[in-house]
Amino acid sequence: MQSEILDITIIGCLVLLFGSTYQKRPSSMVGAWLFGWVMILVHFAVRLMAPSGVIANRTVSSISMAALLACGVMFLAAPPRPDRGRIGNDLLWVLGIAGSGTLVCLVMAVCEFASPLPYFAAGTIATVGWLGYSAKLQGTPPFVRLLLSTAVSATVCWFDWAILHGRIDLLLSILLTQVYVLVGLTYIGTIRRISAGTLTVLLGLIAWATVFPAAVFLDHLRIEQRVHPEFWNIPKYFVAFGMMLMLLEDEILAANEAGTNLLFQATHDQLTGLRNRATLEQDLKSAVEAARDESTKCALICFDLDRFKHINDTYGHGVGDICLQTAGMRLSQLKALNYTSARIGGEEFALVLSGISLHEEAESFGRQVGIALKQPMQAEKFLIEITASIGIAVFPDDGSDSAALWRNADSAMYRAKKSGGNQMVSMSPEILQLSSEANDMEVSLRRALREGGLELFLQPILNVSGRIHSIEALVRLHHPKQGMVFPNRFISIAEERGLIVPLSAWVFNEVCAQIVNWRDAGIPLVPIALNISAVEISSPTFAVTVLDSLSHFGVDPSLIGMEITETAMLRNIHEAARQIKILADAGICFSVDDFGVGYSSLGQLDNLELDTLKIDSSFVNRLSAAEGTRSIVAAIITMAHALGLKVVAEGIENQDTFDHLSRLKCDLFQGFFLGKPQPPDQMKQLLLSACMDA
Ligand code: C2E
Ligand code: MG
Ligand code: MG
Repeated sequence: MQSEILDITIIGCLVLLFGSTYQKRPSSMVGAWLFGWVMILVHFAVRLMAPSGVIANRTVSSISMAALLACGVMFLAAPPRPDRGRIGNDLLWVLGIAGSGTLVCLVMAVCEFASPLPYFAAGTIATVGWLGYSAKLQGTPPFVRLLLSTAVSATVCWFDWAILHGRIDLLLSILLTQVYVLVGLTYIGTIRRISAGTLTVLLGLIAWATVFPAAVFLDHLRIEQRVHPEFWNIPKYFVAFGMMLMLLEDEILAANEAGTNLLFQATHDQLTGLRNRATLEQDLKSAVEAARDESTKCALICFDLDRFKHINDTYGHGVGDICLQTAGMRLSQLKALNYTSARIGGEEFALVLSGISLHEEAESFGRQVGIALKQPMQAEKFLIEITASIGIAVFPDDGSDSAALWRNADSAMYRAKKSGGNQMVSMSPEILQLSSEANDMEVSLRRALREGGLELFLQPILNVSGRIHSIEALVRLHHPKQGMVFPNRFISIAEERGLIVPLSAWVFNEVCAQIVNWRDAGIPLVPIALNISAVEISSPTFAVTVLDSLSHFGVDPSLIGMEITETAMLRNIHEAARQIKILADAGICFSVDDFGVGYSSLGQLDNLELDTLKIDSSFVNRLSAAEGTRSIVAAIITMAHALGLKVVAEGIENQDTFDHLSRLKCDLFQGFFLGKPQPPDQMKQLLLSACMDA
């Protein structure tokens, strides 16, 4: 009695433990264990009752044994299956084993064979039948199937022997043996992880299964009474201890997995599974150190997918993502030994190639990257062709440390992009020189934005009668060593290095301040046109920012014009159209700058709210040459007029060109011949004298 109360207390604690675990992290395995241990609790609890009367006694005893059997069945159902679809199969194989074995033995029982040979034959037939059936069980090791079959056959033979010899009292023990053997063996078959926990459970279950034949055997030898009753419970506690160990191991495994996942997320790009920028930076540092120590070379290859935004806009972001994933997959399958690859931005990737001895090796690897990306990509129902602009920098030739390599590979990549994309640029001393000039320019530009050093120049645009129709704002930079620098040398650097927005804001504020100043001084005002970059016109907040600033200065929008090149407009034509519409509705006039040198996609420009086409100076200054551009310019003017646009010719340097353009019915004229870009004070005089002329 005392030992049973102890058992109940211990098993009660186990039930609480598995119950709370199930509540925290419900799973079918813990659920089945919980139910199994509740059954064991019932098994011991009913044994505490000692009812008088044979029927009551037998009822209590059968409930106790049924609870034990139910526990076995629950444990049998507990191990997690490698795939859920096999649950049905498991049930089938239990039925299959029992069915095939029992059928053969029953036939023999009917025939009343008494010699051991038929039992052995029955067992063998059941084993073969089971083996045939269990071949269908994927994932279960063959030796487990063999053990299962042998154990089932042995217990079935024993069962049959008991029937034939009228030992009905043994049947329950045999059944329990069979169930617990099955449970134990199923754990080997279905729990993939071999750990201290699973091994303890397994040993416990096999020992539990052995308890019943052992008890029968000891009883047969009439020495059972000499065994301490608690001895029979040892396997149970082994199983319980093993299960607790398994739960602990699960917790540790889950924590480790979570840690590994977190680490992976922190070091890798989610979409492509490649490394991220920070990880590649580490790779590059290690590669540079190794190359320095071993006097070898390593390379950084940066590339950007050309016109990727266009793919996103045309096919949608889902397709864009598939393309990025395909690019990532191709990068991880390149033929080189020592390289790592990363996605370092939206459509920007980079690779570090280490352990090379020649610059050419990096170039041939870069070409391999280009070829891999060029293969058409299947994304949903589209077959998409992508090209890349690739930049290469090699240590130690193109940079003495990882930071210099990044900078130089980046500027090589920009160079590839600027030359139209779909090409590879490898750093060279000439490019290095250009890029160091660009770096110097960037430093000056940043200083000028911070401390002053920018200057506004204004160039008049005249109408056919020589009156100032409008003015173009052109910025100049005062370089500490080079003096006044023209925008052609720093605008693209400002665009590349994220300085174009503050630079434009400076020009915009200067222009507004100038208008206010002239208005207050009673100077006759004409619109002043600003040059707008692709970055600005593609920004969804551009129009709102401009209108806010205008109202802050109290400047009428009709006094502001904007010039944008075709290429800049086409970078993101939808957003550009939206921004232009908002600003045009407010009264700002728009011109297409440098018309003729870009894509000249008039079909698309036709949808924009434009006022003026500015014919590029390269057409204007060859107008009167023998093989000149007269017919092109004439065609542009006719076409623009047909679209309801005015035409400005820029870069007029002599009377002859002016006369030509007048004859071709050009509307507006700009050039050194008519008025050079000049500081605002000089422009003020010009405006005043024009006013007096009038
Ligand atoms: P753009 O908008 O096409 O400006 C016309 C350029 O041609 C100006 O050069 C002007 O000085 C020059 N130019 C005008 N008339 C003549 C002429 O008769 N002969 C010759 N040879 N050149 C003439 P600049 O000022 O050097 O500006 C170059 C480019 O830089 C501009 O071309 C414009 O695209 C850009 N830019 C200038 N200021 C800004 C600005 O504030 N923001 C932005 N985003 N770009 C600017
Ligand atoms: Mg312009
Ligand atoms: Mg221009």
